[in-house]
Amino acid sequence: MKYDLVVIGGGIVGLTSAYHFARQFGGRILIVDAQPGPAQGNTARSVGGFRMGLFTSKVNRLISETTVRFYLDVQNSGYDLGIHQVGYLILLDEARYDQYVATVRELFEAGTANLLPAADLKEMIGFIELDLSDEESELLGLKPIKGAIFSPYSGYLDVEKLARFYYEELVKMGVDFLFNTRVEKLTLAAVNKIGHPREPFAWQEKRIEFVESSNGTFEADTFILAAGAWTQELLDPIGIDSYIKPKKRQVFAAHARGDLEAFFNVQGFNSYGTLPMTFIPRGPFVVPRVRDRSIWMGLSDDIGRKWGIDFEAEDIFYYDNVYPLLRKIFPIIEGARPMSKWAGCYSINSIDENPVAFRVMNLVVATGGSGSGVMKADSLGRIAAALALGRQEAELYGGTVVPSTLLGIKGRSVEPELLVF
Ligand SMILES: Cc1cc2nc3c(=O)[nH]c(=O)nc-3n(C[C@H](O)[C@H](O)[C@H](O)COP(=O)(O)OP(=O)(O)OC[C@H]3O[C@@H](n4cnc5c(N)ncnc54)[C@H](O)[C@@H]3O)c2cc1C
Repeated sequence: MKYDLVVIGGGIVGLTSAYHFARQFGGRILIVDAQPGPAQGNTARSVGGFRMGLFTSKVNRLISETTVRFYLDVQNSGYDLGIHQVGYLILLDEARYDQYVATVRELFEAGTANLLPAADLKEMIGFIELDLSDEESELLGLKPIKGAIFSPYSGYLDVEKLARFYYEELVKMGVDFLFNTRVEKLTLAAVNKIGHPREPFAWQEKRIEFVESSNGTFEADTFILAAGAWTQELLDPIGIDSYIKPKKRQVFAAHARGDLEAFFNVQGFNSYGTLPMTFIPRGPFVVPRVRDRSIWMGLSDDIGRKWGIDFEAEDIFYYDNVYPLLRKIFPIIEGARPMSKWAGCYSINSIDENPVAFRVMNLVVATGGSGSGVMKADSLGRIAAALALGRQEAELYGGTVVPSTLLGIKGRSVEPELLVF
């Protein structure tokens, strides 16, 4: 049977892409994934943090804010996505302060973020250390904190519930799913076949005719490749570059017992009385999880961390890297041992760390969450669907219309993102 659309990858980006295609066009749609169920790749390993537009690149700002507004409205309509608007707090040293504050000024004007000077931070979070000027801090590369950007409408959601929402809607719309099925090859054919066994030749116009998988072949008019960190495995053999590479990221979770309970007794930021999700750009983060009273910690390492798929969480990474930095900023972390840990892979756009969505032939590639793909997924899905439908424009949630080439590679005009955690 021939499909109108085959989506390779049933992670959050594949699900949103298929959802918007199905809503706008209908047709016969198949989603294929190597995992046993929806969103069990890197989406399942996500922290689920979302930011109400809190990015330095305008494009990231737009696609995150529209996506988050959609998620909030889904939850407000009665479908629990586990949304907790605990806020995002970005701690900034002197060097970063002016630059970062200038780039997100429009959020202050819109009232979706505000600035907190160091004195206010110290008053609200009694146990935070901001004067990071001693010898040990210097050795660790930490600098005194001048202030913070606080985004009160940001927070985290339950990625499993979010994926379930799209999955259930897709099932209702009659979309087919095939799990435990690995796509092995995107097979090219000539648009105008001449019947030669070695075609397509270099001079022939080409299209993807079908995908070969561990469960047979699937033919379609259009394909969306939403394989996240694995995208290049299918694109390399046919000579297409998405500029996406995988890099391991790790999360360590500790029970909020003893001194750590203080993270759940911070007033003035949110209605839960917790510390917001707190980050140092290119540094460590700590996330108090309200429902299970645990804190999640991590750090995105850069040079020295090899590109490649790797799902092995390393205790030693916590003790050597995450712990020394966080303990300096939050001395109450002293002695904290993780009860669990996991690793996943960011699909990183190595040029500007914004997502990519482009069309080549009858193939649409949508990926490059760069560590924030969940919070941009609805808009990315709308753009991928518009490309798959051959439309010049995509309408994001709330009515903003963007060119469907907004996240394309050729002619791309996207500022590099600074707020990557
Ligand atoms: C530790 C960690 C923390 C993160 N925290 C956040 C966060 O707080 N907020 C946020 O917004 N984002 C976060 N992210 C990023 C976010 O998880 C990703 O951007 C997002 O999940 C990407 O979705 P995706 O659908 O592109 O990829 P995936 O969810 O990885 O989906 C791709 C799917 O494709 C399938 N697939 C791949 N190749 C094939 C093949 N050949 N055949 C069949 N199926 C295939 C895979 O099985 C997989 O299910 C985090 C990521 C990690 C690793």
